[in-house]
Amino acid sequence: MSYSLDAPIASLSRFAKIFAGRLKKLGITTVRDLLFYFPFRYDDLSNVVAIRDLMNGVKVTVQGTIDLIANRRSPRKHMLITEALIRDATGSIKVVWFQQPFLAKVLPPGTRVALSGVVEEDHYGTQLTSPSYEKMGGGDTIHTGRRVPVYSLTSSVTEKQFRTVLNAALPLIPSVSEWIPKHIRARYQLIDIQAALKSIHFPEDDASLALATRRLKFDELFLLQLRNARSRQTRTAEQAPRITFHEKETKAFVDALPFTLTDDQKKAAWEIIKDMSGQGSAVRGQEPIVSPMHRLLEGDVGSGKTVVAAIVAYNVILSGYRVLLMAPTEILAEQHAQSLIKFFSGTSIHIGLWTASHKLLKKEREEARFIIGTHAILHAKEPLHDVGLVIIDEQHRFGVEQRKELRRHSGEGMTAHLLSMTATPIPRTLALTLYGDLDLSILKMMPRGRKVIETRIVEPHERVTTEGFIANELKKGRQAFVICPLIDPSDTLGVRSATQEFERLKKEIFLSWTIGLLHGRMKAKEKEATMRDFKDGKIHLLVSTAVVEVGVDVPNATIMMIEGAERFGLAQLHQFRGRVGRGEHQSYCFLFADTRGAATKNRLAAVVRSTDGFALAEEDLKLRGSGDLFGTQQSGVLDLRIATLGDTAIIHETQRAVQDLVAQDSTFAAWPELKARIEELEAAIHPE
Ligand code: ADP
Ligand code: MG
Repeated sequence: MSYSLDAPIASLSRFAKIFAGRLKKLGITTVRDLLFYFPFRYDDLSNVVAIRDLMNGVKVTVQGTIDLIANRRSPRKHMLITEALIRDATGSIKVVWFQQPFLAKVLPPGTRVALSGVVEEDHYGTQLTSPSYEKMGGGDTIHTGRRVPVYSLTSSVTEKQFRTVLNAALPLIPSVSEWIPKHIRARYQLIDIQAALKSIHFPEDDASLALATRRLKFDELFLLQLRNARSRQTRTAEQAPRITFHEKETKAFVDALPFTLTDDQKKAAWEIIKDMSGQGSAVRGQEPIVSPMHRLLEGDVGSGKTVVAAIVAYNVILSGYRVLLMAPTEILAEQHAQSLIKFFSGTSIHIGLWTASHKLLKKEREEARFIIGTHAILHAKEPLHDVGLVIIDEQHRFGVEQRKELRRHSGEGMTAHLLSMTATPIPRTLALTLYGDLDLSILKMMPRGRKVIETRIVEPHERVTTEGFIANELKKGRQAFVICPLIDPSDTLGVRSATQEFERLKKEIFLSWTIGLLHGRMKAKEKEATMRDFKDGKIHLLVSTAVVEVGVDVPNATIMMIEGAERFGLAQLHQFRGRVGRGEHQSYCFLFADTRGAATKNRLAAVVRSTDGFALAEEDLKLRGSGDLFGTQQSGVLDLRIATLGDTAIIHETQRAVQDLVAQDSTFAAWPELKARIEELEAAIHPE
């Protein structure tokens, strides 16, 4: 028996040792991990009933003694059936299990046992079929006769096995240290962490479960806010170059663009430049030094973030510094380089593309003032010098390590300004919670003259005509996306999977076209190659999961067909839709869904009606919480396990609590446990 929270699971018991490897897949390696792995629901098996009072169809727990137990084969010998008789003071009842012959050994006559299941009554009599079982010893039951926690597990660990391992860890709860200061716990009526952990796994009743949930949600959101407050403090103390606004040149640059900027674009560019020039932040005398900017530029797909980046980059370059733009993939880096070369064509500024397959020669590297590439840039052997601004496209996480790497390129004691761009429409209030350490610019309006993408919910019986319509578009030379919610077929979910649809469409429907497949289990290289083939028109129809790149521009693609649309968030569907309609041709978005429920249909109808990503994101938040907003790809954005961004009341409470603490002691030195907890987290990954 181990007494340390940081000890590996295997140290808990011999039984736990068997499961250590399998639990690792769930991210659980230590006892602490196990205790902080929360159930996602509870089965109420607390209804302990006397056998005499059993009623057909009711979910009950029966406690008694096994009188008889034996195995037999079903009449056609397909199945092994275990039959038993259990007795309590009021009567006895028959129990049946299938294909679990070992039970006859595990529960021999005379065993005291608790059985939970649904009572079935037919003309043969009353029985319990396949109940969950638990031997009754001295202590409390953990599998029956109570609210039983249910965890999200992999197929290699059963709920029962998990509860058994977890049960062995419960005695260590008292060594979890309390980190929220007492006055905050009192003020916000929070139970202590030990009680919360015990109740979240094995709640006595609804009231204690509610208190535990509140406390643990508060923990997560409080920590998130604290971390934001801290990183803002740290950043303010750093030094970045002061960038001056070159008004005349900027105006000429903007005038030379092939379009007029939207008001939002102008405003965003101005906010960014103002930030980097030190206006509105702590200006240190007349020194050429300001606090580094850390700003998030949010704007729907196609809202024109790249040109905003170009304008601000221009000012940085004119002030004598370099700019780095980092994209998540090579294709996106190339695409950016192409647009930027056009935007800068009237200037003498050199733009360099630097990726794994397109290296910059030393001389080019010296000359290039604006370097576009992937993360490969960060790891360059020789620092680039004089980097004043780093722009990060479509990447929600930017680690501390990466920021340190960046500093190498900025020059002695300096930090570059940081601009992150994202197409995920995070509503402002939410963004302030999530990225409270960042400032925010939003492009809400779209450039004028964008074609409306025709969006339709397609009923199952319209599949054939829709496929015919797609074939017709392909014949005209257009391309199509088919998005599926899963990679592989699933028996239980009944939705189409990418691998299955790929085969079906290839072999049965679109025989004369080239079909591609894209999903998250493929290597990055394979994904890029497939995406590139699609962009180059070598693949006509691309079947993909949600991994399909947000920013990739394929103007020839006019069809976006989404299977199992009800399984995606509205904002996510909107982002998929944004991948078509980028060229001159009319584009279409087809939503296939299991729309038997009116609620589903209403929800999806919002995507048909609205082209406003932010409005759809708000709708998502209201209806289903934050998970959907980021999709599976980016679910790691938030380390929230129990809280959701819909917990608005607690979000406000934690914001207030943090403000109060910072006002009291901005170093947090007065609360060592709290400080340790933040530092622990800071050692892990930071958001952008
Ligand atoms: P995103 O915000 O998705 O990154 P881009 O920056 O790629 O969008 O812009 C999408 C397209 O719109 C590009 O072809 C760009 O040149 C064009 N664009 C940007 N701003 C405007 C504008 N104000 N008017 C017309 N077209 C614009
Ligand atoms: Mg973009």
